Amino acid sequence: GFKCGIVGLPNVGKSTLFNALTQTAAAQAANYPFCTIEPNVGEVAVPDPRLETLSVAAKSKEIIPTRLTFVDIAGLVKGASQGEGLGNQFLANIREVDAVAYVLRCFEDGDIVHVAGKIDPLADAEIVETELMLADLDSLEKRVAAAEKKAKGGDKEAKQLVELMNIALELLRDGKPARIAVRQGKISDEDMKAWKGLNLLTSKPVLYVCNVDEGSAATGNDFSKQVETRAAAEGAEAVVISARIEEEIAQLPTEERTEFLETLGLEEPGLNRLIHAGYKLLHLITYFTVGPKETRAWTITVGTRAPAAAGVIHTDFEKGFIRAETIAYEDYVKLGGEQGAKDAGKMRLEGKEYVVQDGDVMHFRFAN
Ligand code: GDP
Repeated sequence: GFKCGIVGLPNVGKSTLFNALTQTAAAQAANYPFCTIEPNVGEVAVPDPRLETLSVAAKSKEIIPTRLTFVDIAGLVKGASQGEGLGNQFLANIREVDAVAYVLRCFEDGDIVHVAGKIDPLADAEIVETELMLADLDSLEKRVAAAEKKAKGGDKEAKQLVELMNIALELLRDGKPARIAVRQGKISDEDMKAWKGLNLLTSKPVLYVCNVDEGSAATGNDFSKQVETRAAAEGAEAVVISARIEEEIAQLPTEERTEFLETLGLEEPGLNRLIHAGYKLLHLITYFTVGPKETRAWTITVGTRAPAAAGVIHTDFEKGFIRAETIAYEDYVKLGGEQGAKDAGKMRLEGKEYVVQDGDVMHFRFAN
């Protein structure tokens, strides 16, 4: 599955947010075997109202949402990479995530110490980013000499790696995160896999999470607006959330949540917005499998072809893929389910080249 790491300076509300999110997610998916894998790793169900609609049309017994994993990555402080370096555990944790959420403190509270002495989310983002850039610089400088040696010996793969490493090094030495290289069009499609394989911390997509005071949850505040401006300029995502409110939501019985959210002028828990922003950032979409037993959501990236999409369910589905009976979500619902869609000629037989679309209801045919 896809993983999003939560990083930030101490005392910005990471743990509060993480705990609230995983609790709320557990409650939202009450009939789903939810698990907190480790204290700092939580799987959250991706809220999707289409699941309910589909399950009604198909009279499914069960709804199974798809999931995103959040990892609370503690241990980033200013200067960490100059002193002892970022802890090994920190680096290991952050290397294995697909995207990074920077939690930025956008609330004032005299009782809670800010490590830099004042509230300045953009400066905080810089500190976080600088530490990650220094860690990348350090790891690349350690790796590049060996790769150069191999490249000189005629190793083609090594030659490609050296070129990519140098693109990253140039940016990092200039104080810029490696992910900019992609935006600048410096990484060709053929090189993308090797680029990702470098596993740089600053090449992962970034989501800014503005942790605001309770009163600003619906509107944002001046601090969060600064962050949103920066995010827009970078083509990154930003979400305004109040960890305190999420904490309160998590403690409320489900039936009281809607009213509580309404009094705050919110349509849904911050969790939902955070997950949707993560989805967008990672270019993720959802397809469905629907039947009397269950209605289930599956996550794939935009552009995934039918066999690979089937492989998310089971590798056998991908290996033995024959075709996919496909109905668009709107058709499925409008025509009252599978039979109705079939009768109206809206069930398509798609082959290996079919690019799965968001909302597709799929039934895979495969040979063992
Ligand atoms: P972490 O070090 O980033 O994990 O931060 P914590 O989640 O432990 O939060 C640090 C302190 O800030 C705790 O006392 C939280 O209750 C408090 N806190 C977190 N979010 C908010 C918020 O939105 N408003 C206020 N006033 N306090 C918050």
